[in-house]
Amino acid sequence: MVEAKEIIKVYGSFRALDRVSLDVYDGEKVVIIGPSGSGKSTLLRSINRLEEIDRGTIVVDGMDLYDPKTDITKVREEVGMVFQSFNLFPHKTVLENLTLAQIVVRKRSKQEAEEKAMMLLERVGLAAKAKSYPGKLSGGQQQRVAIARSLAMDPKLMLFDEPTSALDPEMIGEVLDVMKDLAKDGMTMAVVTHEMGFAREVADRVIFMDAGRIVEEGTPEHFFTAPTHERAKLFLSQIL
Ligand code: ADP
Ligand code: MG
Repeated sequence: MVEAKEIIKVYGSFRALDRVSLDVYDGEKVVIIGPSGSGKSTLLRSINRLEEIDRGTIVVDGMDLYDPKTDITKVREEVGMVFQSFNLFPHKTVLENLTLAQIVVRKRSKQEAEEKAMMLLERVGLAAKAKSYPGKLSGGQQQRVAIARSLAMDPKLMLFDEPTSALDPEMIGEVLDVMKDLAKDGMTMAVVTHEMGFAREVADRVIFMDAGRIVEEGTPEHFFTAPTHERAKLFLSQIL
């Protein structure tokens, strides 16, 4: 689904990504961890070209992101992204938040879009909130709406950038449960998170980044029991 080779991203003279290569296979769940500033967000954002890379190649579902013939809108339809901040439209209802892009981008009828939206709201346990405004919802509920909104576009790949980092502790579980449900359903996922329980339970592969590089990579079993890189050991000793 994703084939990124030797990506370099610089800010001024600083390498935020330093020859990073990453493949994500169909149906695979990759969890990316690492200290703050190690390049995790930059890497995820490169995958749907929210960041322009300076060197290297990225191919998503067969589409080369830097081929002038590639339609980036299509890439972004296929790649859903969920951020720490939910970014819902505050003056639109939950239902409208889920139907807007379906109608405008996907050219679905209002009825079709609403049916899809209600099905997804059921799935994240928020059908009863369809007519509410986002501001009336808890952070956990808003993030579940944001996930449902992404899913409404039928993405083939979902990217999550610290989706629970802005939430009160009691709301983290409900968002992780939605993500676990999605994982069970076979969604291809790349998730940046500090939730090590989630990584153990869901990840097929854990990737550890440090200073713009992938320095360790393996199964959760390997990563949590026998990390070899010093920085990975230190990080785990601090977080676990
Ligand atoms: P992470 O998500 O792992 O915390 P980021 O990918 O956000 O790390 O950032 C990697 C590095 O790139 C950090 O040192 C950060 O300060 C720097 N960086 C990120 N975005 C910008 C930007 N727009 N301009 C300059 N530096 C940036
Ligand atoms: Mg980040």
